[in-house]
Order: sequence, then structure tokens, then C-alpha cells
Amino acid sequence: MASQTVTAKQLEVQRIVDVLSRAIAQHRLKPGTRLIEAQIVETLQANRNHVQVALQRLAMQRIITIEPNRGAMVSQPSAREAREVFAARRAIERAIVECITPAIMQKQHERISRHLNNERAATNATDRRAIVRELSEFHLMLGEICGNTVLSEILANLMVRSSLIVALYQRNDVPSCASDEHQDIITALQQGERDKAVAVMLEHLDELEAQLALEQQPEPDINLREALAGL
Ligand SMILES: [Zn+2]
Repeated sequence: MASQTVTAKQLEVQRIVDVLSRAIAQHRLKPGTRLIEAQIVETLQANRNHVQVALQRLAMQRIITIEPNRGAMVSQPSAREAREVFAARRAIERAIVECITPAIMQKQHERISRHLNNERAATNATDRRAIVRELSEFHLMLGEICGNTVLSEILANLMVRSSLIVALYQRNDVPSCASDEHQDIITALQQGERDKAVAVMLEHLDELEAQLALEQQPEPDINLREALAGL
């Protein structure tokens, strides 16, 4: 964002966008959930106009969908969009990993080890929301430390959309990232083996995508025809 004057309104809209994005990313608000404006105004103690602007912004980011006469709801990405989001993640996260030098790793050492500890603690416990949050936080952290804010902003959007996709298509209830792979990426980056870090990241993203049941997407038209055939 340009460093012109940030108005109180902009800050307030951003606060609403952040709260809603976080709730969606952590599966507190599931795909298809209706977002009633009056309830958001009340719960977040916000101004109606600010809520409307925030919802418009989330709609532009494809995180929510606004339908005429039906209002806003949390988006339900199609199987095709899910594949496209993962293709975009492969491109963006490769670029992010390529930006991270051993010097950055050294400078961010404390933050990284704190995160890996939190992640291990979460995956050893059973709080599903904490697991989802920590595993996604790993990817966001790499985006933040890489030093390129454009890549980091694009990734933030893709991560919320990935959460929606996982909520809709995950085959089973297991957490989607493996901590070991995260650790392997970190180790490679610390040793300055960026090619290896990129390879592990791409493999990791392929695995995440493979855990999605994208081919089983219901196709209402065909099912309806099949269901009615011969009756
Ligand atoms: Zn991961």
C-alpha cells in the first residue's frame, strides 16, 4: 500500500477484512455460510458502511461470494478453481522459497524455531483449529520473511482460499501438512540449498493437492438425470 495517509476508515475496513478472513481460514466460518450484515455489524461493533466495504473487498478476493437478492456467503470454490489455486501456490511459493537466503534464515532464526515448536505442539494435541492455523501459518511465515510484500500478499489470499478448498474437499480429517516436510524445507534453506528447498516445497504442495477428492465433485445435472432415468 502506498504510504499516503491511511484513514481511520481504511484501518477499520482492514480490521473487519482480517477478522473475517481469519475466521474463514480457521474453518470457524465454513464454505456456504451466510454472512448476515446486521450480525457482523453487531458482533464486531462496526459501522454498517465499513462492513459493506469489507465484504466487497473479500468478494473481489474470491473469499466470499455476493449474490444479488441473496446477500453474501463464504465462497465454495469449484474443483477447477481448487486446481487453479494449487497451481498458483506452486508458482508463488517457489518464488518465495527462491527469495530466502541463509542470511534471512539466520536473522529470522528465533521466529522460525518458535513457529516450528508451536506447530509440533499443535499437531501433537487434538485441537483441530489450532492444527489448521499453525500449518497454514508456516506457509504465511515464509511469505513474510522472504522480503517481497507482493508475493506475501498474493500468498495470503491463496492461503485463505486453500482453507476453503480443504474444508470442502479434504478426503479425511487428517491435518493436511506434514511437519516433517516443513522441517525439511527449513533445513534446506538454512544450508543454502535453495533448489532442494524448492523441490521439497513443490512435492509438499503436490501431496496436499493429492489429498483432495477433486474428482468426486458432485455434478448435480448428471446426477439428476441419472436419478430420474427409467422412472
Ligand atoms: Zn505445509
